[in-house]
Amino acid sequence: MGRRTRRRWVSETPNNFYFSEENPKLDDCVIISVAEFEAMRLKHYMKLDQQRSAERMGISQPTFSRVLDSAHQKITQALIYGKVIQVYGGNIDYKKKWVGYGCLSCKHEWEDRTASKEKKVNCIKCNSPDVYFFVREVI
Ligand SMILES: [Zn+2]
Repeated sequence: MGRRTRRRWVSETPNNFYFSEENPKLDDCVIISVAEFEAMRLKHYMKLDQQRSAERMGISQPTFSRVLDSAHQKITQALIYGKVIQVYGGNIDYKKKWVGYGCLSCKHEWEDRTASKEKKVNCIKCNSPDVYFFVREVI
């Protein structure tokens, strides 16, 4: 026996029910940055909480909250005005797996496709032998 859904009040019904580039009514589009897209993906699709989402994107929680809010505003505009949604741009960095070394002396980290735990190398910046091997995983 399902719980009865409480009635929701709405003050305006949608003018647009169909969103596509082919729609001749659409003369404008809303641009979502890749960061805004990622914020929505982590929070609403991956269902991560704000803290985890912010960590994954390497930004503070207040910043994450701002990015997500901006995304919601744009999507809402697109829904109301039947605008096309485009995703691009912004200050982003794609997460990919890479191997390399880090230096304990000068904190420099660099990618080296041939890197391994066994190989002994010196820092490419300060020539220090106190170097560690690491694998940066895709998160
Ligand atoms: Zn160094």
